[in-house]
Amino acid sequence: MYPASFEYHRATSVNHALELLATYGDDAKLLAGGHSLLPVMKLRFAAPAHLIDIGRVSGLDGIAESGGVVTVGAMTRHAEIASSAVLRAKAPLLAEVAGHIGDQMIRNMGTIGGSLAHADPAADLPAAMLALGASVVVQGKGGTRTIPADQFFVDTFQTSLAAGEMLTAIQVPVATRACAYVKHPDPASGYAIVGVAVQLGASGGRVAITGLAQRPMRLAAVEGALASGAAAADRAADGLALIEDARGSVAYKANLARVFTRQAIEAALARK
Ligand SMILES: Cc1cc2nc3c(=O)[nH]c(=O)nc-3n(C[C@H](O)[C@H](O)[C@H](O)COP(=O)(O)OP(=O)(O)OC[C@H]3O[C@@H](n4cnc5c(N)ncnc54)[C@H](O)[C@@H]3O)c2cc1C
Repeated sequence: MYPASFEYHRATSVNHALELLATYGDDAKLLAGGHSLLPVMKLRFAAPAHLIDIGRVSGLDGIAESGGVVTVGAMTRHAEIASSAVLRAKAPLLAEVAGHIGDQMIRNMGTIGGSLAHADPAADLPAAMLALGASVVVQGKGGTRTIPADQFFVDTFQTSLAAGEMLTAIQVPVATRACAYVKHPDPASGYAIVGVAVQLGASGGRVAITGLAQRPMRLAAVEGALASGAAAADRAADGLALIEDARGSVAYKANLARVFTRQAIEAALARK
């Protein structure tokens, strides 16, 4: 199918993009890699009258570490994140997770800002953001604010981005190599049926799941039991609002959560 007709705008700077967002309001959408937005437009689930292309805005790409924080520009492509020497050294979980996204073409086009703003409940990067304790930097007409990942993913396809705001960067605290991402991909789409990200610290750690719930979530009960090692995975379904659907029963999904969480914890412990 073809999308409904729209007017194309090429933003030349962040301020220009924000002005266009303010001018066109709910009728406008930012266009990053286009690999989530264009499919939903072709299906006519979205029909924005104005597309604001931020692909050529300078200052929105790149990966750099300073003062214990790695900053990743919102327009950085998944492929660059997956192969980044800085991330491989300073926050390897983000690089590992980006390497699991779709196929090479998707990774060459899709951006971290687009993936996080889209907030697909089966996307991979949100789980890494939660497990790493990362934050997003957003800019609006009123200025810049930083939102912890724990407060960013609100519901299915919903974030705490306000109208007129855009994501400009991601901030990731430097993390240890004791991390892992284990994913069971949908054979048709490549999206996660379940994906579990684990980041261990000097003591304790953070565990996040994607695919099984209405949004990516931390597994608080598992985190609280990490002192018992991989046995903490027995608590993986606690607090998940699982529903029966074409992918399986509640019992099956609870088992997926436990099995993949166990594998992810074991893999992270093996890298300690
Ligand atoms: C066949 C296929 C397989 C895929 N498989 C996977 C997979 O296995 N795992 C996975 O996680 N993803 C997968 N994806 C999604 C892919 O990673 C997308 O690229 C990504 O989700 C969206 O990034 P984008 O840059 O393409 O964003 P776009 O499609 O351009 O935008 C997505 C949404 O985010 C908004 N947006 C974009 N940038 C910003 C910004 N800076 N600030 C505010 N809002 C913004 C847009 O307005 C739009 O609403 C797949 C996609 C396809 C087509």
